[in-house]
Amino acid sequence: MQMENSWREVPWQAALKAASPAMALILEKSLADSDLGFDDGMTLSAAEGDDLLALVKVADEIRRRTVGDHITYVVNRNLNFTNVCIVGCAFCGFSRGPNSPDAYFHSTDTLVARSIEAVERGATEVCIQGGLPRDLDGHYYVNLLRAIKTRLPELHVHAYSPMEIAYGVEKTRMPLRDYLQMLKDAGLGSVPGTAAEILDDEVRESLSPNKLTVKQWVEIIRTAHQLGIPSTSTMMYGHTETPEHWVRHLLLLREIQQETRGFTEFVPLGFIHSQTRLFQKGGARAGHSMREDLVVHALARLMLHGYIRNIQVSWVKLGFEGSLACLEAGANDFSGTLMEESISKSAGANFGEYVSPGEFRALIRKIGRIPAERTTTYKIRKIFESVDSDERFPTERIPVAGSGHAPHAETGY
Ligand code: SF4
Repeated sequence: MQMENSWREVPWQAALKAASPAMALILEKSLADSDLGFDDGMTLSAAEGDDLLALVKVADEIRRRTVGDHITYVVNRNLNFTNVCIVGCAFCGFSRGPNSPDAYFHSTDTLVARSIEAVERGATEVCIQGGLPRDLDGHYYVNLLRAIKTRLPELHVHAYSPMEIAYGVEKTRMPLRDYLQMLKDAGLGSVPGTAAEILDDEVRESLSPNKLTVKQWVEIIRTAHQLGIPSTSTMMYGHTETPEHWVRHLLLLREIQQETRGFTEFVPLGFIHSQTRLFQKGGARAGHSMREDLVVHALARLMLHGYIRNIQVSWVKLGFEGSLACLEAGANDFSGTLMEESISKSAGANFGEYVSPGEFRALIRKIGRIPAERTTTYKIRKIFESVDSDERFPTERIPVAGSGHAPHAETGY
C-alpha cells in the first residue's frame, strides 16, 4: 500500500470487500468482537496490497468504535537521570561507560528543578528512566521519587522500567513485592512497561543476554498490577524478530491483561538502528519499515481488542508523518510532549526533544480528528473541539536547558 492521500478516503467497508477471503474472515471476526488467535495474527502480519489496506481500515474502524475520534496526548517531561549503564544491550545507542567523555549523572537537585520547570510549563507527568550504573545505591530510585513528590505532590511520576526495578531489588535484597510497595508508598504513580523488547527468551538472549528474562519481566509487571500500580506495555520491532514473535508477544500481554487489567496502553517501539552495535555488526535489519509500522499498530489494535483500549504511537521513533499514518491504522494516542528525550536520539533518531501541546493539536487536526489532553492513566483533562491560538504547524522547536544529550533506547514513548 502506497502512503498516498487517496488511501485515506477509502471507506473500511470497501477495503474489506476488496480483501482476500482469508483476510476478510479474520477482520469480520474482529469486527464482531471475537478474540483473534495465533493463526489469525500470523495471517494479519503477512498482509500486503489490498489485504494491508483492509487491515489498516478495519483497525481504524475498531479504534473508532472503542475510543471514538479523539486523539489523546499527555503533557509530560522525560528525565533520563544517567546514561551510564552496565547492561550492554546490543540495540542501545544511549548507554555509556562511566569514564566516557559524554557520560552524565544528573543530581537529584537538578531532577527536582527540571520537574518543577515541567510543572510550570503545564506538565502533569514526569517519566523517569535511566541507565544502570554499577555502583548505584538500591534506594536511589525511592529517594529520587521522595525528593520529587515532596516538592510536587500532585505530579504523576511514571518511572522505572522492570529492569531498573529488578536492579533495585537485587541491590537492596528486598522481596519484589515489598520493594514495589515501598515505591508506591513513596508516590510512584505507574511503571513504564519497557525492557520488554520481544518477550521471547531466545530473541532476548541475542539482543541483550544480561537483561531480565521473560519470566522476570512478567513477574514484575504482574506484581505491580496486583499492588495497584498500572503500567504501559511495549514491544520493540524492526530488528531480528519475526512476525511470529509479534503475535506471541501480543498474546502474552493479552493474557496478563485478562488477569490484572493493569495495562493502560500498548506502545509499539520501532527499532532505531543506525548508532547501535546490533545493526553495525550486521545482526539486525535496518530498523522498522513503513509497512511494518502500519501492520504492527493495526495488528495490536485487533489482537488486543477488548483488553487494551489504547494504542500509542511513539513520535520519537516514527516521526510526525509516520505517527499520523499509524493514528489512522488503529492507534489513538500521540504519547507525550517529552520536553527532553535523550534515548532515541542517541541511537540515531531524528526526533526526540519536545513537541508543544499546540503542535500536537495542529498535527491531530491535520487528519481530521479531535485533540484531547489526558492524564497518564487516560482521564481526559480537556477536549479541544476548535482550533486555538497555541496551535502551530509546521513545528517550532523549543530548546530545553541541559538537554544536549541524546534520549533512552527503550523509552516508553
Ligand atoms: S537499553 Fe537500558 S539497560 Fe540496555 S544498555 Fe541501554 S540503558 Fe542499559
